[in-house]
Amino acid sequence: MNVSIRLITTIIIISGFFNLGFSQAESEITSDELKQHIGYLASDDLRGRLPGTKGGLLAAEYIAGEYRKAGMELLADDGFQYFDVVTSVEAGEGIFLRNHDLDAELYVDFIPISFSKSGQLSAGVAFAGYGFQLENDSLRWDDYADLDVDGKWVIILRGEPDVEHSSNPFSSHAGIRAKVLTAKDNGAGGVLFVSATGFDEEDQLMRMFYDKTTADAGVPVLHIKRYIADSLLAASSYTIASLEDIIVDNTSSFSFESEVVLDGSSEVIHQKVQTQNVVGMIKGSDAVLKDEIIVIGGHYDHLGMGGRGSGSREPDTYAVHNGADDNASGVAGIIELAEKLSAGNNELKRSIVFVAFGAEEMGLLGSKYFVNNPIIDLDKVVAMFNFDMIGRLNDKNSIAIGGTGTSVEGEDLLNKYLDEYGMKGSFSREGFGPSDHASFYAEDITVFFISTGAHQDYHTPQDDIEFINFEGEKNVLDFSYELIVDVANRAERLTYQEAGSKSRKQGFRFKVTLGIVPDFTSSENDGLGVGGVSNGGPADKAGMLKGDVIVAMDGMEVASIYDYMARLKKFKAGQIITVDVIRDGKKVVLLVQL
Ligand SMILES: [Zn+2]
Repeated sequence: MNVSIRLITTIIIISGFFNLGFSQAESEITSDELKQHIGYLASDDLRGRLPGTKGGLLAAEYIAGEYRKAGMELLADDGFQYFDVVTSVEAGEGIFLRNHDLDAELYVDFIPISFSKSGQLSAGVAFAGYGFQLENDSLRWDDYADLDVDGKWVIILRGEPDVEHSSNPFSSHAGIRAKVLTAKDNGAGGVLFVSATGFDEEDQLMRMFYDKTTADAGVPVLHIKRYIADSLLAASSYTIASLEDIIVDNTSSFSFESEVVLDGSSEVIHQKVQTQNVVGMIKGSDAVLKDEIIVIGGHYDHLGMGGRGSGSREPDTYAVHNGADDNASGVAGIIELAEKLSAGNNELKRSIVFVAFGAEEMGLLGSKYFVNNPIIDLDKVVAMFNFDMIGRLNDKNSIAIGGTGTSVEGEDLLNKYLDEYGMKGSFSREGFGPSDHASFYAEDITVFFISTGAHQDYHTPQDDIEFINFEGEKNVLDFSYELIVDVANRAERLTYQEAGSKSRKQGFRFKVTLGIVPDFTSSENDGLGVGGVSNGGPADKAGMLKGDVIVAMDGMEVASIYDYMARLKKFKAGQIITVDVIRDGKKVVLLVQL
């Protein structure tokens, strides 16, 4: 290993004497260099490149070093654009749940729900069955009818009554977020979830896990054990088991107010780590076109040692998830493209910005941060090329290319170079997809998502370097290089066009739609940011604009994406609702027909 590295160094030094820089031959994309980059990034030493770990930082430093070697200008903070990510949530140690008969123990008798508001509540207790308030064609059910929950703790059963329906009408409303929102709408001051036997016979406490948003529910929310609920309801002579029987046997709601007073608190602590995107630039040479930018990106983070909530498909295996294909291959690719494109003899007209994204596996966090905190003018971005998993080209030479419909010229251009390199493209027109290009498409930017596709080792500890097809990857990159140079040097910039939804399709889950792209990065409790408005959709017709913040729908508060989704489920197609938005600091009320 040492020998070969020394040999390469020697060659570079010797040729440096003659050229004072990269010669054409050295700047070529080679399978040896790809092997070297992937060999380091996917090594066990880097322990799966998890954001916020030493391995993650070493990977970022390696990339910045390669940018420097290629002679690129490093942007942001010496190449690093820093941002924080939440890695986990935990309960504050001082929280309590007690009255004169009870002093519950954290983690044994109760636990806060990860989206609980932090705070304290001393109040009466009411039992609100399964916590439903539903009125639609197939079902009328109101656990809050004639029940005073104002400012109180409300005990709610998890899950749904086990009714024999072909498709259970409760299922889509049984989520705990939705139940908390209903309780809050009815004035509840806090929520205590309890598992009935039909839901969880063993009555295990929920695990706290970070559900990708820091927005809290607005009230304290705890999960309590069945015997704690039974002791709170003791004076009423009901138990959770008997209440479950009453509701399920009669298939009707059953609620009551208890005499008990309960003093409880909740605290949820978000554990954060710092990570970074790695950003460098090659300045274009044309006096006018150099202001236009092509972004070449690929994420460098991966799943670390795996485990539950990591994204690993083998969550019970604690092992290095090397991520050789996902996405050391893509990063090696952008390093090699950077080297070749900056070799000086390309006469690039437009500028090229390279971004190795952090925290992609945690929900495209690096690319979202990049577009929301731009260090370049996004209006000047002509196209974004995203390389994610390009190391497993098959023997049919077929590449999966996404976003082909996001420019008028895209498919013709791709076909031209695919033919030249003897490759087959499997096109998908949509600009949205499961990787960082989606963040750019959401900003109305033309995208090309280049990948050799998923495989059985995807997101497992077996995504290893021995399965990388280096020659194949070199071919993918040579093809991509031609494509990028074409886009960088053509007289007219590519013509952007919309191709499909800008977020995960929601049509299956909702009867009605507003026609907006929620801004998933808005994590404060002050409404839902509108990341985009679909042309001709209900919100567009009503005059909603990108950048508006939705704070209420039909007079009901919307504090987060979860509130928004829960509200949307209750409306009917064709219904006209008011939507309150904050625009430039002022409240604007829009009338939207769904
Ligand atoms: Zn991945």
